[in-house]
Amino acid sequence: MTIIRQNDLIDSIADALQFISYYHPVDFIQAVDKAYQREQNPAAKDAMAQILINSRMCAEGHRPICQDTGIVTVFLKVGMNVQWDATMSVTDMCNEGIRRAYMNPDNVLRASILADPDGARTNTKDNTPGVVHYEIVPGDTVEVHVAAKGGGSEAKSKFAMLNPSDSVVDWVLNMVPQMGAGWCPPGMLGIGIGGTAEKAMMLAKEALLEPVDIQDLQARGASNRAEELRLELHEKVNKLGIGAQGLGGLTTVLDVKVKDFPSHAANKAIAMIPNCAATRHTHFTLDGSGSAKLTPPKLEDWPEVTREAGANVKRVNLDTVTKEEVKSWKPGDTLLLNGKMLTGRDAAHKKMVDMINNGEELPVSMQGRFIYYVGPVDPIGDEVVGPAGPTTATRMDKFTRTMLAETGLLGMIGKAERGPIAIEAIKEFESVYLMAVGGAAFLVAQAIKSSKVVGFPELGMEAIYEFELEDMPVTVAVDYLGESVHQTGPAFWSKKIEAEAIEVK
Ligand code: SF4
Repeated sequence: MTIIRQNDLIDSIADALQFISYYHPVDFIQAVDKAYQREQNPAAKDAMAQILINSRMCAEGHRPICQDTGIVTVFLKVGMNVQWDATMSVTDMCNEGIRRAYMNPDNVLRASILADPDGARTNTKDNTPGVVHYEIVPGDTVEVHVAAKGGGSEAKSKFAMLNPSDSVVDWVLNMVPQMGAGWCPPGMLGIGIGGTAEKAMMLAKEALLEPVDIQDLQARGASNRAEELRLELHEKVNKLGIGAQGLGGLTTVLDVKVKDFPSHAANKAIAMIPNCAATRHTHFTLDGSGSAKLTPPKLEDWPEVTREAGANVKRVNLDTVTKEEVKSWKPGDTLLLNGKMLTGRDAAHKKMVDMINNGEELPVSMQGRFIYYVGPVDPIGDEVVGPAGPTTATRMDKFTRTMLAETGLLGMIGKAERGPIAIEAIKEFESVYLMAVGGAAFLVAQAIKSSKVVGFPELGMEAIYEFELEDMPVTVAVDYLGESVHQTGPAFWSKKIEAEAIEVK
């Protein structure tokens, strides 16, 4: 009989969460590097360069890959011969591990979990509770998989109860374009087929814990239906031309994982969960000899990548920028932002729009300013701000018309595409939407030279900050005429892949 001590599980979970906050899995890095090397669209290639540079910086600096440090999921396989030397429940031990990891002063992680999700939405302040799953298995060890999943990619999860004769491939190819780019591709798709509704979702989530190994499968060939689907979907999804960050290009998915389970004759449940550029998971086994020892990757595992300055790079001073200057920017232009920029995301936008509707004055004037959709990680040591990458812009779409019409706001910066109502408003008010790369948060934060809270301090990471910038890289994603690179890019690249029979495997 193996004795597992309470502190060994708590310490192992805490260490694993710190580890995955700054170390990408090596298989993931290598897959992004391969995709980077063969990418033909300069904008998508640059996005992957930023992801790779950011990844290496995080590994060296032990700071989070992304400002969204995720919701924690723990999968435990508990051996039937294990005895616990503990007073806490196993779920409580997992949550204590989460608490210690997220509040570690050497690398504080962002607390993103809100209690009372359809009510007060109060931050629990320590990122607990995690979502904990168990399986009781023969044996005398405890096997643990730990993952921290970003909200942007989790938001794009899909489920359907197909008819038995419906095509899984058709369903996936219909759903992936609807997911937009808010899941920060390139990444992976986890697909669960069969069982019941909840079983299919579990299979999809578990599938994401596996390493990227599609090239091995391509080399050896499929030996069952799940593997056939992996090969077919990997190729067909990439042929959609969505590309890194939805900018259009050759790689949207680095791998597709499929798990299946026997199904009722009347059903074919299907679930799909994407994993993003901040893929974070690891696993360890406790055998009673102490807490887990995780082996850090070697720095040589990261490629040496330098960003190539394109011809269409413009340096912009946000303190003096005018509407005329904004109108000179073309979709796909790279801008280096300098000067002062405001921030605000979901809660701040809701509050501002409520205040406008009530005739109240905002805590800070938006006239002629740019707003960045971000919720940064708290700084440590001499940092001005912690990792501060963009959050999904479509969540702000419903506030955009009011913000542009009522505040004099000049432009917005966020992640991924804008929806029709936001694009209409951008066109009407001759505004602009710029995108930064999701999953390159530590790199983006290097451009922020000072930071202060200027509104709604009670909202914590969702407060309005004013950042002073030096060369923050962004791409013009929707210009003042309403042309969106997230529409034109994938349309162009899917046609080009087809017409020129470009290899996307
Ligand atoms: S990479 Fe994108 S989806 Fe993933 S955690 Fe970061 S912002 Fe969220």
